[in-house]
Amino acid sequence: MDDLKIIHSAVIALLFVFVFLTYRYRSLTKILKSRDLENLQLIHTLSETKQKYRVLLESIPDAVIVINYDWKVLLANDMAHQLFIQESKETLIGVNLLKAFSYFAESSILKTMQHVMENRTPDVMVDSFSFDNDHTRWFEIHIYPVSEGIMLINIDITERILAEAALSESEQRYRSLIDLSPDMITIEQDHKIVFANPAAASMLGIHSVEELLGKPPETLLSIIDGHRDRLIQQFEKIYTRNVSPSFEEFRFVRHDQEILDIEMASIPFIFGEKPAVQHICRDISVRKKAEEERKEAAVNLKLLQEAREYDRLKTEFFSNISHEFKTPLNVILGTLQLYDLHLQGTTLPAELYPIIRYKKILKQNCYRLLRLINNLLDITKIDSGYFQIQHRNCDMVSLVKEITLSVADYVHNKALSITFNSNTDQKHMACDPDKFERILLNLLSNAIKFTNMEGSISVNFIDYGKRVEIVVKDTGIGIPIDKQEVIFERFRQVDPLLTRNHEGSGIGLALVKSLVEMHLGTIRLQSEVEKGSTFIIDLPVIHLEECQPNNDPIEPPCNVEKIHIEFSDIYHM
Ligand code: ADP
Repeated sequence: MDDLKIIHSAVIALLFVFVFLTYRYRSLTKILKSRDLENLQLIHTLSETKQKYRVLLESIPDAVIVINYDWKVLLANDMAHQLFIQESKETLIGVNLLKAFSYFAESSILKTMQHVMENRTPDVMVDSFSFDNDHTRWFEIHIYPVSEGIMLINIDITERILAEAALSESEQRYRSLIDLSPDMITIEQDHKIVFANPAAASMLGIHSVEELLGKPPETLLSIIDGHRDRLIQQFEKIYTRNVSPSFEEFRFVRHDQEILDIEMASIPFIFGEKPAVQHICRDISVRKKAEEERKEAAVNLKLLQEAREYDRLKTEFFSNISHEFKTPLNVILGTLQLYDLHLQGTTLPAELYPIIRYKKILKQNCYRLLRLINNLLDITKIDSGYFQIQHRNCDMVSLVKEITLSVADYVHNKALSITFNSNTDQKHMACDPDKFERILLNLLSNAIKFTNMEGSISVNFIDYGKRVEIVVKDTGIGIPIDKQEVIFERFRQVDPLLTRNHEGSGIGLALVKSLVEMHLGTIRLQSEVEKGSTFIIDLPVIHLEECQPNNDPIEPPCNVEKIHIEFSDIYHM
């Protein structure tokens, strides 16, 4: 029975156990079922998050790489693939970063990555990669510790670096522009100069710009009174109205009292976060001076034109008046000739003898007037370019000789001697005999006029082949050295008018000089007071091609009247 009881109890116990186990199983299954659900939900959420991270990872523009402690790549986004393996379809995952990319093994990034791995603190560095096509890009590399190893986020900052470089380059250029500018550039703040370029020092006449800094502008530059109001007005315009700066002219006085004409524009701007004014000043002293010179030149030109016009009127007047004089003079001379004609062959009674002397005086003075008028007319003709010389080939030796001999009467009257010498018998060359006669007669009449009794006069012809010299020498009173140049100028005589011993107008030698120059020659003088004078005419030997040398005997200037006229100052008939 006991056994049965035991069996019964055992069965009951087993039953309980069974029921319990069934219950436990059921409840366990229940629990497990609900856990599975939770897990499933968890798994789902997890994959969703992963998905989100993936999307996030792929959408950022930076290259992200996660590597483990063995440098193996565990994760790399598309950007990282693009950056490191570019076109190739290979994957970065599983690649040993140090072995695959020499950049990581060789550059300073290795140390930084090791440091982050060891210390577990994030770090950041900037470095550049050179790509195959030789272009370099700059990256800011953020390195973070993660459970598996480290994460690298490469931010491409090439554009920023280039922009910064461009900015500093343009700053550099702006700076050198200011430094090299010939214009003075200063910045004024709180009424003190806080910046000045090197041109400011030279324009203000100081050694260095440091002397300017911290000082009010008027320490080195004061404005001229009349310009002060305009300067104040310009500053007011700048500060109060929003007007664009324009250059205005001002006159300043430097500390060393030098006048400075400048053109100045002022621009308000912010300097060191405070309002300031930048002045640009250009030195226009040279331009101003040139302007003044131009004005002066214009005035001078006007004066010159006026003087020319006055000269032209004077020449015209001389010419007119000479003609006006000449007409009545010729009438007087003609009447005198008629008078001579009437008296020819008649014997005058003794009481009328003085008439003959009066007639001579009349005639000689007519000749003197005529000489003066002729000379004036010739000078005015030369001035106005109407005087013409007619060259022809002639024998100069006989021309000079004939003219010299033709004045013998006048020479002897004064008890003088005259000689002619030549180193050649003939010299054919181009010359205007008429004008040359004027030249020589003038020189000879002067020689006679200024040589005292018993003196001597010589005329020498010297042939040098391509040129000839005609030398007129006297033993007269001579010409002081300081007068030797001026006697060739018009109306100039050695003796002042009131103390003069000799007659003359002072035109003769000026005319001689012009006539010699028309023959392309020169005239010079050697003279010593009390010893005598020598006039040397130097003529080039020129032949007129078209004409044959004219062998006709040169008509000696036997036009006695001509000689009378040229010698009217000395000859008393
Ligand atoms: P003028 O008609 O007065 O003679 P010229 O021009 O011929 O004018 O001469 C100017 C001056 O030069 C003369 O007035 C005289 O003072 C001086 N002069 C010219 N020739 C001689 C000379 N042979 N000897 C001394 N003085 C002379």
